[in-house]
Amino acid sequence: MRCAILADIHGNLAAFQAVLEDLQRRGAADRIWCLGDTVGYGPHPRECLALLRRHDHLCVAGNHDWAAAGNIDTSHFNPDAAAACRWTAERLTPDDVRYLRGLPLTLPQGDFTLVHGSPREPIWEYVLSVRSAEENFGHFETRFCLIGHSHAPLIFELGREGDCLYRQLPGQLSLDGEGKRLIINCGSVGQPRDGDPRASYAILDTEAGAIQHHRIAYDIAATQQSMRQAGLPARLINRLSLGW
Ligand code: ZN
Repeated sequence: MRCAILADIHGNLAAFQAVLEDLQRRGAADRIWCLGDTVGYGPHPRECLALLRRHDHLCVAGNHDWAAAGNIDTSHFNPDAAAACRWTAERLTPDDVRYLRGLPLTLPQGDFTLVHGSPREPIWEYVLSVRSAEENFGHFETRFCLIGHSHAPLIFELGREGDCLYRQLPGQLSLDGEGKRLIINCGSVGQPRDGDPRASYAILDTEAGAIQHHRIAYDIAATQQSMRQAGLPARLINRLSLGW
């Protein structure tokens, strides 16, 4: 099976469309695995949800998804994120809200656990340090865990002694690895934060036992223009060109 692994689309339709076009060029996928935060920050939350839902897909809940749908409040959001969340909530249809409210926190799929933040704290925890990764390996049963939320393409590998190593997600990741367990973040489609503003996503090929990571240029200025027209916070607009 071939799965497109997408996370943190964040209402950025131009980025999402560019990723789907790239996916088609590479031979498509049987299914999308979406790791949450389809909405929030960006100017096209409704359109991104509609586009995702036109595809065969699985999706888990992100903090922005649940905040926009009213499942959780925005007291942990910074002021710009909270403003964007209010703006997003006003634009969702009742059906969008039902869909977002019903998203599960974690989804096991074969050798993989899908989650937005971390297996320990599915909505809120950022796995960015070796220490938090080490602690999280005890919170999922499968060999691999796919995460989003930090918007940084990274892998954490559990060593034989319970130690943990981390590195950038490479272009090609073999899942052989003598049974080693991994926590894998394929980066963000709609708001990358690793200094590279291009959309980030990956294709998992379960038969080949490999993950291919791709970076895709998209029309950043078009998304920024839509955000300006929507009156979204300037900081959220500017960061897209810088990839942070
Ligand atoms: Zn996010």
